[in-house]
Amino acid sequence: MSAALFSATYREARQRFLAAAHAAGATVESHVHPLPGAEGEPIATDTALVGPADAGGLLIVSSGTHGPEGFAGSACQLGLLGDELLARAAARGLAVLLVHAVNPFGFSHLKRTNEDNIDLNRNFNDFSTPYPANPVYEEIHRLLVPDTWPPDAANEARLAEAMTRLAGQRDPGVSSGQALHPDGLFYSGTAPAWSNRTIRSIVRRHGAGRRHIAWLDVHTGLGPYGHGEKIFGTHPPATLRRALSWWGRDLIVSTQPGSVSPRTVGHITYCAFAECPRAALTPMTLEYGTLPSPRVREALRGEAWLAGHPDAAPPVAAAIRRAVRDAFYVDADDWKGMVLGQFRALAIQTVNGLATTIEQGDAP
Ligand SMILES: [Zn+2]
Repeated sequence: MSAALFSATYREARQRFLAAAHAAGATVESHVHPLPGAEGEPIATDTALVGPADAGGLLIVSSGTHGPEGFAGSACQLGLLGDELLARAAARGLAVLLVHAVNPFGFSHLKRTNEDNIDLNRNFNDFSTPYPANPVYEEIHRLLVPDTWPPDAANEARLAEAMTRLAGQRDPGVSSGQALHPDGLFYSGTAPAWSNRTIRSIVRRHGAGRRHIAWLDVHTGLGPYGHGEKIFGTHPPATLRRALSWWGRDLIVSTQPGSVSPRTVGHITYCAFAECPRAALTPMTLEYGTLPSPRVREALRGEAWLAGHPDAAPPVAAAIRRAVRDAFYVDADDWKGMVLGQFRALAIQTVNGLATTIEQGDAP
């Protein structure tokens, strides 16, 4: 496991991903984003497909749904591109699709949300119906995103009191998502974002003809330092049983009290149900802990404040971006080793589970 798989910028991560994908003989495609990156560079969601074209099983590994959380996901993907596991997957009749930088704008600009302050993991909704109300978020929006940054002591004290009071609220919880504050945290948006439309087209094209899709979406920022929580959404009992048989009893259903994540609406992996209606789906969100949650929360508050204050003084903006990067990417060898080691174990489990499930004819 090598910490050298981690990159320092989106631009570097992208270049290395593309080079490794070509070296691995992958079919590579780039979906270029309309806006430039932080260094003026072109940004894109890039995909690499490896394995038999007619494979019944497809393993998707996606990174950067939340911008700089992509430093970890990108390193996992780079490791996989050099891993003999790809050949083993192909030998068992599986294809592997790596989706690099779901949210390339946020990855490059060091923001968890996209170009419109949308949290993409709250954006994959049915926009023909209203987004669920979130009274818990309503109660503290003004405290989370104050008028001035950094927040003053009175704001911090009131927010701390409110967070303590609301700590047990999970359905919805503060971070479940909200549609009323475009300058707030966990904002769903009001229509499918560029990344949403792009991911749907990628998943449809590569997944609709498959029999079974497994999807690992790699995140960071919640939970104990370096620990990868295997988060599972709300699915039918048979899907949960299958997931437990692949990944073990430490799979956490996100609606259970013990999860680091609350119930969320508009999750990315659910789009596979709509785009690939004939395929079985076994998805997981892999969530690595980084810094203590107050540090992560402060970074997200600063990011939201900056979204509403694009004319902020450059040193203030730079400090916020730095805090966001640090909150979602721990630049330390022990953390990087934990990320890569747990990812490889999960990738092996997923290849074995998916191949065995198909071989046994369990998929519809
Ligand atoms: Zn995330």
